[in-house]
Amino acid sequence: MMTKTYIGLGSNLGDSEQILREAVLKLRALGEVTVSKLYQSPPMGPQDQPHYYNAVAQLNTHLEPLALLDALQRIENEAGRVRLRRWGERTLDLDLLLYAEKNIINERLTVPHMGILERDFVMVPLLDLDPSLQVNGQSLQNLDLVQHSTLNALADHTWAD
Ligand code: ATP
Ligand code: MG
Ligand code: MG
Repeated sequence: MMTKTYIGLGSNLGDSEQILREAVLKLRALGEVTVSKLYQSPPMGPQDQPHYYNAVAQLNTHLEPLALLDALQRIENEAGRVRLRRWGERTLDLDLLLYAEKNIINERLTVPHMGILERDFVMVPLLDLDPSLQVNGQSLQNLDLVQHSTLNALADHTWAD
């Protein structure tokens, strides 16, 4: 069965724009992909790290949730991801934001991703892909964090073509 999923992409080490482009290319091997605009955002957590490049991809895939997480973590590792400190700098972060309307809680996976409603750099690109998107029955577009976001779009949705 084909499932509509959303993947959050982030990078603030190396040639981030190129790393995100390569990640999208690899996601295309997992199913049909549509990307948001490309954004730049200030770091979350430790402030002594470079700004982030962020985007969201909609991926329609046959993969089950844990198989999809395996694939995402493999792509992170191929980009040279090393875990240094919580919310610290990284070449590539791929988070499974939404897996259709499914709620998942297990040792490896919490879906919807815990950070969605707290992060404008996730919600704004999600809304590029679906302006009426809801998370847990909550419509994103009217949230204060979205309405007041100062997120900076670097490029339109053709950045990963
Ligand atoms: P955050 O999840 O707050 O954005 P992070 O992305 O920096 O932080 P990671 O180091 O990338 O965190 O991931 C830590 C662990 O989170 C992974 O080993 C993974 O098993 C787990 N995890 C739980 N839910 C998810 C999810 N929805 N997407 C990706 N990883 C998840
Ligand atoms: Mg993350
Ligand atoms: Mg992550």
